[in-house]
Amino acid sequence: LQSRLPNVGTTIFTVMSALASEKGAVNLGQGFPDFDCDPALVDAVTSSMKEGFNQYPPMTGVPALREAIAAKIGALYGRRYDPASEITITAGATQALLTAILCTVHPGDEVLIIEPVYDSYVPSIELAGGKPVFVQMEVGAEGYSIPWAKVAAAVTPKTRLLMINSPHNPTGTVLKPSDMQALADIVRGTEILIVSDEVYEHMVYDGARHESVCRYPELAARSFVVSSFGKTYHVTGWKIGFVAAPAALSAEFRKVHQFNVFTVNTPVQHGMARHMANPAPYLDLPAFYQRKRDLFRDGLKATRFRLLPSEGTYFQCVDYSAISTLPEADFAKWLTAEIGVAAIPVSAFYNEPRESGIVRFCFAKKDETLQTALQRLASL
Ligand code: PMP
Ligand code: GLN
Repeated sequence: LQSRLPNVGTTIFTVMSALASEKGAVNLGQGFPDFDCDPALVDAVTSSMKEGFNQYPPMTGVPALREAIAAKIGALYGRRYDPASEITITAGATQALLTAILCTVHPGDEVLIIEPVYDSYVPSIELAGGKPVFVQMEVGAEGYSIPWAKVAAAVTPKTRLLMINSPHNPTGTVLKPSDMQALADIVRGTEILIVSDEVYEHMVYDGARHESVCRYPELAARSFVVSSFGKTYHVTGWKIGFVAAPAALSAEFRKVHQFNVFTVNTPVQHGMARHMANPAPYLDLPAFYQRKRDLFRDGLKATRFRLLPSEGTYFQCVDYSAISTLPEADFAKWLTAEIGVAAIPVSAFYNEPRESGIVRFCFAKKDETLQTALQRLASL
């Protein structure tokens, strides 16, 4: 068989989690919480099962959940999406991203992506027969930023899609109004569509606000907005998320979605719809994670790691060049095996080999877990 994805192996997240477990390391690699979700959410889902919500839901998702999402987007970002025609429930953000790409990208089309980039984007583009075009973020003392002039220069008549991700995995960068303006200037007058990966929308710190494309009518009109309940509600294993997009885009999305998964887990959708009636869980999330971020950053100050900013997400990137000259993947493995703390090399988020001396830690962990990790890192 000739592989459709000849360059793809096992994801770095799986590799590092396996190594962490083999070596008994504290796993700050793969991004997932090591604490449980709200028991009320589990109750809401189990009640839905007991009430008999166990057969196929509507193809586009349970209406109550789509309505709850539309209400939330309206309240937070001021755009009204029609739950019937503009919101679709997906099997996590991964499926949403793949489906958005498959329904828009024709063979030979170019898709502009910004590196470092989440690892599912490039294979998804390749499966659609598209060509990924890369622009790299710049990294300096102030952290990472998007060089918009380079993004503009990379646009060609073949550019079909531009993908953004804010808050950004792995860098923790959060787009500002000036970034959104730069993006709008680039796409205005073109046919370029946008996929906006906003899975970390409720993890923005220091009082900053999440610049959802939903806030910008001219961007929202051409965007698939992707989010994931896994991140917001500490249930990464439930694989449930959604896409919000104007009706014409959603109609194309749904054509692919119905033959991709057809429908998504019914009782979880019902349970999630009930749970979403209370906005506190996502409104409280920035404070919850900012405290963990600060605890982790404070502990790292005693080491020779240089801390990069973490404006959002549950990731903290560090420059280890004062500690080691190893390439990132080797350093991450050494750190896991010898120091007992797993991290993710940022080089894994680049298409071409690239060494910046930076690794990513996930701080979505119990305080005890973070303390244990910090004790082990203290010698560095
Ligand atoms: N996009 C980004 C930027 C992510 O970090 C993740 C999760 N690691 C996903 C998409 C996938 O989300 P899900 O688990 O809901 O498929
Ligand atoms: N998104 C998570 C991360 O960046 C991991 C998801 C996965 O393992 N595919 O760590």
